[in-house]
Amino acid sequence: MLTFYPSNAPRAFHLLMKPTGAVCNLDCSYCFFLSKEMLYPGSRFRMADDLLELTIRQLIEAHRVPEVQLAWQGGEPTLIGLPFFRRAVALAESYRRPGMTLRYALQTNGTLLDDDWGEFLAANRFLVGISIDGPRDIHDHFRRDKGGGPTFDKVMRGLDVLKRHRVDWNVLCTLHQANADRPLDVYRFFRDELGAQHIQFIPVIERVQATEAGQTTEWSSWRDRPLYTQTGDHVTQRSITAEQFGRFLCSVFDDWVRRDVGRVYVQMFDVALANWFGAPPGLCIHAKTCGAALALEHTGDLYACDHFVEPAYRLGNIREQHMIELIASEKQAQFGRDKFETLPTYCRDCDVRFACHGGCPKDRFICTPDGQPGLNYLCAGYKLFFHHIADAMEFMVDELKMQRPPANIMPFMAENDALARRVYPVAGRNEPCPCGSGRKYKQCHGAPGRA
Ligand code: SF4
Ligand code: SF4
Repeated sequence: MLTFYPSNAPRAFHLLMKPTGAVCNLDCSYCFFLSKEMLYPGSRFRMADDLLELTIRQLIEAHRVPEVQLAWQGGEPTLIGLPFFRRAVALAESYRRPGMTLRYALQTNGTLLDDDWGEFLAANRFLVGISIDGPRDIHDHFRRDKGGGPTFDKVMRGLDVLKRHRVDWNVLCTLHQANADRPLDVYRFFRDELGAQHIQFIPVIERVQATEAGQTTEWSSWRDRPLYTQTGDHVTQRSITAEQFGRFLCSVFDDWVRRDVGRVYVQMFDVALANWFGAPPGLCIHAKTCGAALALEHTGDLYACDHFVEPAYRLGNIREQHMIELIASEKQAQFGRDKFETLPTYCRDCDVRFACHGGCPKDRFICTPDGQPGLNYLCAGYKLFFHHIADAMEFMVDELKMQRPPANIMPFMAENDALARRVYPVAGRNEPCPCGSGRKYKQCHGAPGRA
């Protein structure tokens, strides 16, 4: 029982609970988390019932806001079975304080969902994130099962369960060499074929050490690789490049801003708009500091962040110390402050720092042009994207300030595009765009989706 509330503790935080640890029924080749099984040799990888109760009690006690999110992830959390989740919801309801709202969330690969799951998730108003990398040929490239087989059909069946039971769902799409150069195929597949209204894009950046000869090791399965930690200043060949990431976001944005504002929510665009507006961005990666998004292993071990489930970032075990004391510890506070305090001068002087904030510390392993360490691997992509969207963001912020919907940008873009087509003669697809942007016509005023 919590008898003393640390004065420096956050009023709210985000906890990712991992009831099966890193265990998963798939074997996606880029997954950094599968190797975390090595942290718990001999474990059954199943959160015990008394620990589940302790976790939920502490999580609810630790919040000083009227809304608490209970979020499960893995590995693959559905492997633990539906009875575990029924019990978790029953426990949460029993500890819920009067006037408190509980929000349940589950991140899954979708392959094990059936109608029993669908009924349960709908009845308890779960928000379900489902991992899909794009249309079949893209999705099946890296997202394979334990036997190396494709998974697309199983995921689509799982998504169908969610749709039939009217469960709230969103797509989590990782970006890598199999889809980085196909932004519109990916985005339009989610929007038009799946009917997705909420989409998150997550860049795959797998850090590795290079040999003296500059070669890196490419693992096809986590079983061959050592425990993944945030070390190494090279990346695997399947990782996305900064430029690809920037171009991908720009292309999707150009399509979205012409027809989907207020209809489809792309997390990165919402986060950018919040930062442009001066509101909290809602995503740690583009916030000034972090440290309030933690991960809880099946043993009760609490880690600083889902991306830092490794020994140096273990804060303690919630069986021994209340989670809010661990979260309020100086070690975790410093982890969160470091996001800002370790920014290189290049970032501090950057004109889009208000939108970027240097990105996630896990990706800061390259040097600035003048040789200072600690620059984000994605910097070139971030700069490209944030500069590309600046005018549109300013337009939407003005609309918000006038208490008008940001979606008003769509007719404005249509008018603008029509005007541009009248002013600039149509050029060959691969010729420079006559507007002077420096881009090819097909990627600028001749791009698909422009009026
Ligand atoms: S390390 Fe990165 S992912 Fe983790 S809390 Fe900080 S910004 Fe977020
Ligand atoms: S765009 Fe690059 S330089 Fe600017 S804040 Fe982001 S990482 Fe730093």
